Amino acid sequence: MTTVFKFGGASVKDADAIRHLTPLIEAHKERPLVVVISAMGKTTNALEALLADARDDSRGEDYRERFASLKASHREVADALFGDDADSLKARLDTLFDELDEQHRRHRDSPYPEHYDQTVCYGELLSTTLVAEWLNRQGVETEWLDARELIITDGQHQNANLDWSATTDAIRKRAGGDDRVLLTQGFIGGTPGGVSTTLGREGSDFSAAIFAHCLDAAEVVIWKDVPGLFNADPRRFDNAVQLKRLSYAETIELAWHGAKVIHPKTLGPLKQKAIPLTVRSFETPEAPPSVIDADTRFDAEHPSCILRDDQVLLEVKPKDFSFMDEPRQHDILGRLVENGVHANLIDGGAMQITLCCDNKPERLESLIESLKDDYEVTRQDELTLLTVRYPCQGMLDALSEGRETLAERRNATTTQRLFRTEECPETWHLPD
Ligand code: ASP
Ligand code: MG
Repeated sequence: MTTVFKFGGASVKDADAIRHLTPLIEAHKERPLVVVISAMGKTTNALEALLADARDDSRGEDYRERFASLKASHREVADALFGDDADSLKARLDTLFDELDEQHRRHRDSPYPEHYDQTVCYGELLSTTLVAEWLNRQGVETEWLDARELIITDGQHQNANLDWSATTDAIRKRAGGDDRVLLTQGFIGGTPGGVSTTLGREGSDFSAAIFAHCLDAAEVVIWKDVPGLFNADPRRFDNAVQLKRLSYAETIELAWHGAKVIHPKTLGPLKQKAIPLTVRSFETPEAPPSVIDADTRFDAEHPSCILRDDQVLLEVKPKDFSFMDEPRQHDILGRLVENGVHANLIDGGAMQITLCCDNKPERLESLIESLKDDYEVTRQDELTLLTVRYPCQGMLDALSEGRETLAERRNATTTQRLFRTEECPETWHLPD
């Protein structure tokens, strides 16, 4: 049975990290083994910044500096792993960098999303080229596959939609029954015409799920720098605990509310085929992992807290003192759709609707412009949204103490409260 491993940016961030992959992969003897890898460390962020430089005439110097530093950092890893003995690999990396530069020249006047996909995809092409060479030299027979020929999508750049049937055919034809390690890129795909696309930031988890679904895999393992999923972000809560068992549905809820655990699109394809997802630490592979499957028994065992910063609160009222009835709600939500704005919280009363959204300036501004034609709109910035799944008695009061709640939404399983960020603590603590 097929297994799919996914390694994120942190697990391939430098030469040492890449060295650590070998024993993890060697320990898994069964084949086929598909290994999906992200761009090294923060490469995708760097490529996004490079893209901004490339599109701005006045930033030619910045572009060249950033390009050189990206090239140097990949070269450094190659040097550390292979020393002088890697001319052909280094030539391949150089070719990828030449292509990247060429794509920037070619697409600088293309629409941003298209330019994005033709260039940001190089992060994964570079990392997998390095890792494939490394594994082969370690005696782990590895075949490098170009995900752009296997993950077949439409042309909706930066958030491409999968053509499941073409993808299944391509993956089964190429990857079924191979007894080598099949190494490929997360996050990226391609149209049937060969144009590069991407699946959305953090999309490598989704890529792993696509491979698993198409190959009827026995398991997906996501290797992270933490031993699994937690009931709150351990960097922001000083007493977060690991969730050892969780259902697909609950994991989707957590991801949907903004927990940076797993890309929300990942769970659907796994659930359909009842493929369990295991989240393990590449630093402590022997530590008990988190396992996600169809079993819902453990979902409410621990309350979970999720924070979203940089939130904007919009209060929308009809100008004519009329009610916020269904046609008006429909109208307002329609404008969110038109402007590509997602509301993290929606609440309302007789004469107003309250929305809380991520601060994505361009989209938000055009939404507000459009609303202002027909409604009174007030806006408040620099807010933090706290979402609690399965809150226990007294927990919300303890978490809200000393802070004004600007908006709240509550149902049987979930409570959301919106606070001013400046009133929130640096480090949060889950009440006992
Ligand atoms: N490299 C991409 C990103 O940083 C995809 C991923 O890591 O999942 O968003
Ligand atoms: Mg990443």
